[in-house]
Amino acid sequence: MSEFLVPPASKRDIKRLALTIRKKFGLEHNALFPVVEMIEVVLPVFDPQFNFEIVEDCECGLDEANYDPRHNLMRIRQSVYDGAYNCNGRDRFTLAHELGHYFMHRDVDLALSRIIDRRSVPAYCNSEWQANTFASALLMPDHIIKDMRPDQIAKICGTSLSAAEIAYKQKKK
Ligand SMILES: [Zn+2]
Repeated sequence: MSEFLVPPASKRDIKRLALTIRKKFGLEHNALFPVVEMIEVVLPVFDPQFNFEIVEDCECGLDEANYDPRHNLMRIRQSVYDGAYNCNGRDRFTLAHELGHYFMHRDVDLALSRIIDRRSVPAYCNSEWQANTFASALLMPDHIIKDMRPDQIAKICGTSLSAAEIAYKQKKK
């Protein structure tokens, strides 16, 4: 996935945004965040301009999923959609990552801001870092994973063990 220069957001800002979104949709206490329903049912009502498309795996050129802010369009590969629907942690994270682009980068003109040299751009201004941070915060918020071990986080929040281990290390003590 291409990386873009976007307005800065700290990990704290992003955690706060993810929590605000959970609250807005009445999902503050859902340990298993309903990421597929969010894209398929909730967002199209909340934002009638929002579109999503399930794309056959054989149509080349698409990442696992992507979000195009110009057309307010999320495209998801069939296998990723199926995986997320069946609670595959990696695929759920992919969709949560695209939700991060939707909520944070909808209004950013990405065409103007492709990152050529990652070393020259701080992580907190990098679209992919922000979307990954958002995905982690949305699926594994501190108030839910507070007393959990990584294996419990993965199982209860529906993430991969490696994503759960990162969230575990970074949670507020
Ligand atoms: Zn991305």
